[in-house]
Amino acid sequence: MKSFIRNAKHILRQIFDSDYFPEGADVVRNRPDKFELGRCVPFLILHLGCLGVLWVGWSWTAVILAIFLYAVRMFAITAFYHRYFSHRTFRTSRIAQFLFAVIGNTAIQRGALWWAAVHRHHHRHSDHDEDIHSPARQGFLWAHIGWMTSSRNFPTDYSAVPDLARYPELRFLNRFDLIVPVLFGLSLFGLGYLLERFFPSLGTSPAQIFVWGFFVSTTVLLHGTLFINSLAHTFGRRRFETGDDSRNSLLLALLTLGEGWHNNHHRYMYSARQGFYWWEIDISYYLLKFLSMFGIVWGLREVPKVVYDESRNARFSYRRAKP
Ligand SMILES: [Zn+2]
Ligand SMILES: [Zn+2]
Repeated sequence: MKSFIRNAKHILRQIFDSDYFPEGADVVRNRPDKFELGRCVPFLILHLGCLGVLWVGWSWTAVILAIFLYAVRMFAITAFYHRYFSHRTFRTSRIAQFLFAVIGNTAIQRGALWWAAVHRHHHRHSDHDEDIHSPARQGFLWAHIGWMTSSRNFPTDYSAVPDLARYPELRFLNRFDLIVPVLFGLSLFGLGYLLERFFPSLGTSPAQIFVWGFFVSTTVLLHGTLFINSLAHTFGRRRFETGDDSRNSLLLALLTLGEGWHNNHHRYMYSARQGFYWWEIDISYYLLKFLSMFGIVWGLREVPKVVYDESRNARFSYRRAKP
């Protein structure tokens, strides 16, 4: 009985404290890679929650809110988790960096430090043996979501993000990465209550706002983001010979507010824009430009001439990269 209580305590603490590894983070990191059923539970809950629409129905208010929350949070993930925290392609204030880390946190893709550490690792080892989500090496399903269930990928490698780890507020969000999603879910319930009470003509309810805003929006957002690991290394055009399988895709770029120009990005990851030309639609970049007009972000890094020269000489090709 005592050991049962102790185990339950460990599991409970691990759920809320992402830095808690009684056996040591290094031990966990050295485990073999495998698909772990226990770690599928959060994803299962997220997906099963979408079935709630069968009970709560739909209204334009709920659907528009879900799309709005998808867009805002996709921007937080692409512009901040990816282009700012992972690649430092522009600068911003400490307050803005915290706010967008909070918004990104509602996407249930863990904290910004974990996300950036994993992503920097991906760029160092793209589609080579050490890459933790390469469709060419480990198959599409593993690259898409399987790798997230493997406990060896769970601890945050703080040594990969020393520039971010020096902010205690970011470390806190990263360590207790469920606090924000729980508060987000409760806020949606509260919003649903207020809408039902004060705007009954909208025909919505707390449960409906919660199911659409939390479950549906977040699940689609998760897959939209994960497509960059799986689809953007499988389907699309290659402009640059980058030594990996990264691709450019307009469809993925539209879905992810600009991340679909992934071959461009693997060629030059230090640029705030991933669509290198005006016809390569990159909504996150346009929004960053807009924010820069108000001084919320600044110092957006551009694509250097040498990369444009290389692009002009490159032949567009669907061929796979040479290993
Ligand atoms: Zn990639
Ligand atoms: Zn990147």
